[in-house]
Amino acid sequence: MTKLRYWNERAETMSRDELAKVQLEGLQKTVRHVWANNAFYRKRLGEAGVEPGDIKSLDDITKLPFLTKEDFRLQYPLGMLCVPQETVREMHMSSGSTGTPVVMAYNEADLTQWAECMARCQVMAGLQPGETIQITPTFGLFNGGFGFYHGARRAGMFVVPASSGNTARQIMLMRDFHVKCIASVVSYMPRIVEVLEKTGQTLPDLKIGIFGAETFSDAMRRHLHEKLGIDAYDIYGMTETGGVGTTGMDCACHNGIHVWEDQYITEIIDPDTGKVVPDGTYGEAVFTSLTRQGVPILRYRTRDITRILSRETCECGRTSLRIDRITGRFDDMLIVKGVNFYPRQVEQALLQIPGVLPEYQIVLETLHGVTDVRINVEAEEGVTGYMVEKHLKEVLGFSPKGDIFKPGTLPRAEGKAKRVIRIDKEV
Ligand SMILES: [Zn+2]
Repeated sequence: MTKLRYWNERAETMSRDELAKVQLEGLQKTVRHVWANNAFYRKRLGEAGVEPGDIKSLDDITKLPFLTKEDFRLQYPLGMLCVPQETVREMHMSSGSTGTPVVMAYNEADLTQWAECMARCQVMAGLQPGETIQITPTFGLFNGGFGFYHGARRAGMFVVPASSGNTARQIMLMRDFHVKCIASVVSYMPRIVEVLEKTGQTLPDLKIGIFGAETFSDAMRRHLHEKLGIDAYDIYGMTETGGVGTTGMDCACHNGIHVWEDQYITEIIDPDTGKVVPDGTYGEAVFTSLTRQGVPILRYRTRDITRILSRETCECGRTSLRIDRITGRFDDMLIVKGVNFYPRQVEQALLQIPGVLPEYQIVLETLHGVTDVRINVEAEEGVTGYMVEKHLKEVLGFSPKGDIFKPGTLPRAEGKAKRVIRIDKEV
């Protein structure tokens, strides 16, 4: 069988003119659909003074009001549903830090759309029908497990639905079923490396890692390549856009994330003014879905920080625009002594120090209104707290205190890692 380069060659390589046509049709259809079928949306569009007929060109998208996570929360559970409830086939939900859930409901067409996006991602990472993928995100309300599953089924992969936990068993499954691709949160991988090293095992068949839900640095990508021989892919998507993979992934060139543009319109806006920024400028990613039916999104503000890298055809042959890998989320930005930074920058800086391992915590301690930062990091013998302090001072511009921990001694998370810990000493 010839090797697939694309899951959907036509969609992934269509000309930009053709894409623009598909996008305009999808946008008009989606605006008509939400207007006709959902009271919340009709009210929101009415307040903005827009009717479906006003969308005559792609530029008219800026007439539409933004949608936020708060809107999803206020419309809990199904206030944004645009199809009859009896046609819903699945739901997923995320809670986030504030607790009020965000719900995504899928009808049959939405599940097909999700599977299509995920199949494209898996083939883009180099997985071929019939090859084995081990899915380590939980199968549950969080969308990760099922998202990978729907895509793998669609593309005809051999699925090992391991779900999370039990690292020894994960390794056994990967070894015995010749798993080629692991789907995971990236912060789980150092744990796998640790157990492999401790038990003297290797995983020669494992070639690909697809990592979602957390941002990670290029230093982490190199680390995983060195330790496991895998090529690490950064998959993008969230509950509100329809789940993992819906908004794309990087290709083997690793020069940005290909957004599935026949499925979503991407805008990058200035978060303060709401105005679209020029290509290359960092801002907030905003997505509009073009084919989703259950809970379509119009101009959803993700709070994710990125920029448009290119609209040229990629070396891989795909024509979709590429956005930068997510630098961070506006909500995750830390400000200490007047310096702004993101956890990913700390990770990148730490892994530049020889002997430092990819397990760390950023501890923010506040006393009398003053916040100090402590970095707890695991490292091999010979690395000192002073080395960490000095390097972070050079890279980030302020001096956190560095505390070195022996390998394997920092707490390990199941699922997403908790990198930032806030301690208020006055409470
Ligand atoms: Zn590419």
